[in-house]
Parts: sequence; C-alpha cells; structure tokens
Amino acid sequence: MTEIPPNWALILHGGAKEIQPEQEEANRRGCLAALAAGQQILETGGRALDAAEAVLRVLEDDPTFNAGFGSVPNADGQVEMDAALMEGKTLAVGAVAGIQGVRHPVSVARALLEETPTLLIGAGARRFAKQCFSDQGSAELCDPAEMLSPQQAASEAAKRAGHDTVGCVVLDQFGDLVTGTSTGGLNGTLPGRVGDSPLPGCGFYADNTFGAVALSGHGEAISRLMLASRIMHGLERNAVQTAVSVALNHLSRLNTDKADAGAVALDARGNVGWDHRSPHFAVAYATSQQPAQVYLKREDSL
Ligand code: ASP
Repeated sequence: MTEIPPNWALILHGGAKEIQPEQEEANRRGCLAALAAGQQILETGGRALDAAEAVLRVLEDDPTFNAGFGSVPNADGQVEMDAALMEGKTLAVGAVAGIQGVRHPVSVARALLEETPTLLIGAGARRFAKQCFSDQGSAELCDPAEMLSPQQAASEAAKRAGHDTVGCVVLDQFGDLVTGTSTGGLNGTLPGRVGDSPLPGCGFYADNTFGAVALSGHGEAISRLMLASRIMHGLERNAVQTAVSVALNHLSRLNTDKADAGAVALDARGNVGWDHRSPHFAVAYATSQQPAQVYLKREDSL
C-alpha cells in the first residue's frame, strides 16, 4: 500500500509596517522562532489549532511585535489587545477585543472557541480570561502595565514606533485549516478603538473548503473593504496568490494615506500566498514540501 505523505503548511507574519534596518534581524529571528514552534507540532502529527496557538504565543512574547508583551499603548498610555482564532472545519470563532492584563490574548480567544459567544470585549473578556486561567494564576494574568516593554515605558520614540499585528494560517495533515491574529492595535489610538483583527471577514477567515487568511495593517481600511472576505471569495475562483494580490489592490480605492495592509493565506491544499501594500511585511513559512523561508518584503521572494 502506498503511504500518503503528510501534508501540512504554515505561514505567519509579524506585521505590515516599516522595518528600520536595526530591527530587521529581530523580525527575521522572531518570525523563524514562531515558525519553528508551529512546525514542530505539525511535523509530529499535531493539530492546526495547537500549532496556530503556539505560533501566536511565541510572537506575543516577543517585544519586537505589536501583540501581547510589547503591544503599543493607546492615547491614554494603556495597552488594549485584540486576538482571534478561527477553525476552518467548524467555522468556530473565538475573539477578544480591548482586553487588558493578560499575557496571551490568543489563548483567551482559544478558550472562547468552545463557547457560544464569538467575541468578548474589555472587562468581560478579562473576566472570562480570569475564569479560564484560575489555575494558572499569574502565568497568564498580569497587571495591564506589564504588557508595555521596558523600552516603550521609558522612551517616547519607542512609544511612537510603528509595529503591527501578528497572524498565522495553518493547515494540518488532517486537512484542517486554522487562522489566528493578535494585536495591540494602533499606536496612540482612541481608547476603546477596535480594528479588523478580532472581526471575521475583515482581519481573518478560515474555511476548509477554500482556504484561510490573516491580515495586518490599518484596521479601518481592512474593515471597510472586508479584505478577508474578498480574499476568501477570490479563493473560490483563483489561485491563492492571485486572490490575495487582487483583494489588496482595492486598498487604492480608499481616499486615505492610512491604508497599508498585508495578508498571508493558504488554499485548502496548503499552497501559500502573501502580499502587502506597506513598506515591509515580515513573513515566514514552511510546508511539508518546503523548508523554512523568511522575508521582510514580497519583492525579496521573487
Ligand atoms: N490591524 C490592527 C488594527 O488595525 C493592527 C494593525 O495592524 O495596526 O488594529
């Protein structure tokens, strides 16, 4: 009997943004470390959901990225975070918005996957996290101020520095797709502002039949264009790379200079697509047929 080779794929990003030369190495290293965490799970027959959570937790712990520890503060100097996970098999969504004082918003989103609500905000999201993590105590819960990195807390320049959302899309050998996002939102934004990252059809979507996608960039632009939804519709007709690039072209229709975005996607067979309309987009991917690759710009991969 011929053995069917296991087929998995994983693509992640560390944000559509401008990367200063001195930050290039940290972005590459951080993306590869997160890729390795997910790859290890997939290579040993693990599930896409576990791999996606593992990838995003590594990125949340890395202050290079605007998610979890090192999230950018809002106009009041407070960190409010958004995160989401979606399963392509069941179309289950778990998302949190404006959550404070948790170390890994993606793990709160994962716990919510099992519940009826798809999205919890602010104090309600933190109360849910407290219930979920009552046995882990301070490992997952913290003072909200602890999510600012020491550099951000100490330096006005660091507070203003551009960062962006993290996200990933995973296909496991069972044919299940999972997508996830995690972000500190936009730097210095209005308290209470929520972007695309916790909104299905805007910042992410997954459907085992067609593929899955995760976005980064200006949440208002992404939401107005429902970019995840556009990419998913594109996947019904086109190759994954075309679906991503064509959807991102719609950004030029918005009459604003705040319309940077990037997207990573997989089709249902694990083919990879990614593109961005931003100076840089830190991306890493690997599949069961392709070794790890990392790029800071799409044109560097061509
Ligand atoms: N997309 C996220 C948001 O708008 C964060 C970002 O990418 O800047 O909240």
